[in-house]
Amino acid sequence: MTEAAFFPQLEIPNTIAAGPGPGHTDARVLDRFASAGMADHMHADVLRGMIECKLMLRSVMGTRNIHTFGVAGTGWSGLDCLFSAVMPGDRVVVFVNGTFSGIDGLTLRMKAATAKELAASPMDPQPASVKIVTVPHGQSVTAEIVEAALAEHNAKWAAMAHWETGSGRINDLRGFSDACARHDVMGLVDAVSSLGVEDFRIDDYPGVHGWASCPQKGICCLPLTYAPVSFTDRYIANLRQTGCRTFVHHPILEARHWGIVEGKDVGKGVYHRTHSAYAVAAFHEALRITLQQTVAGRAKSYVFHEAALRDAVTAMGCKVTSNMPSLVVLNLPNKLAGREMELVQTCRASGFGIWPTLSEPVQVRIGILNLLNQNAITDIVNRFAAALNKMGAEIDTGRMNERLEQHYQTLVAAE
Ligand SMILES: *Cc1c(COP(=O)(O)O)cnc(C)c1O
Repeated sequence: MTEAAFFPQLEIPNTIAAGPGPGHTDARVLDRFASAGMADHMHADVLRGMIECKLMLRSVMGTRNIHTFGVAGTGWSGLDCLFSAVMPGDRVVVFVNGTFSGIDGLTLRMKAATAKELAASPMDPQPASVKIVTVPHGQSVTAEIVEAALAEHNAKWAAMAHWETGSGRINDLRGFSDACARHDVMGLVDAVSSLGVEDFRIDDYPGVHGWASCPQKGICCLPLTYAPVSFTDRYIANLRQTGCRTFVHHPILEARHWGIVEGKDVGKGVYHRTHSAYAVAAFHEALRITLQQTVAGRAKSYVFHEAALRDAVTAMGCKVTSNMPSLVVLNLPNKLAGREMELVQTCRASGFGIWPTLSEPVQVRIGILNLLNQNAITDIVNRFAAALNKMGAEIDTGRMNERLEQHYQTLVAAE
């Protein structure tokens, strides 16, 4: 017989979420989460909240797509829903330039594999119908790369991450959409990192027929609430013809609880699964915050603060290889090269939650999601410099802070 397992109450400390995500959940979101009453998933106010979320989400995403809603879970839940229409044997081109687009590629290989191909390599299938176009870490997927691949492979679907968070690179969404439209391929985009950080409207990219994001990056909600997704009428019409092999993430069935039935908005959702009043309340507040601050306003703020952080770490001798305004991906100064994991672990042990890259090469990632103020950036810069100095970097922190202050003054003056 085993001992009965029982533990003290779980305490989890507060840290600075200075990684690629989750971002710093807004206090207003946490308050709504904790203040929601005990109410079931068919309660009138929960259903009303979901309808309001759906309408706000259409504004945040810039779309008239009826099939726009939240998938319960994390980014991968939304992406699983996005890729659900891809059937065994479908021809797919996937652009991979880092960890996350790599996993998107794996998901698509699993979905497009025939039963025989899946059985041949169940965890890592290599279906003949999927073409993975690999772009080296630290580089972006360009319009030329997409055009060449779509011209060569007669695909039904193409998939790309808008912002590849693994390497911190922005991929060419315009080029991707245009090439998809030219070759009559249905584009699918992983917008997990970009939604709520960049100012863009998905309806301006007509070559893209499906989009998925996550709750906890640009949208600043809690993980495991709702991953935004949106589908064009063409995607949905295709899905109606082919069907797909999921109940829970079926884009047509899942949409019903958000009051989208038979391709139309209806006043009240229909049961699909047991939604959480807490999650709905949190997501609702996160969307309200985004719309109050405006997507354009937040996007501008990210660019502004990332420039300050980038300048500071560059002055410390680091080399930044990313171009995302919410995340800095860098190489350490030459004399500290190879000690990235040690640095990240030291920082994380003190509640300063920066990250390494998750696939080769090893680099350091510092994120600023919902940390959009001078105090937060100054704190990040000083913690990072102190950790480097512990390893022998000899950074003059007094001069560094003067420089940061000066940077903010000039940036403010330039506004
Ligand atoms: C974070 C991220 C994901 C995964 O999101 P989870 O919320 O961890 O499931 C997928 N794609 C990209 C581009 C990401 O940045």
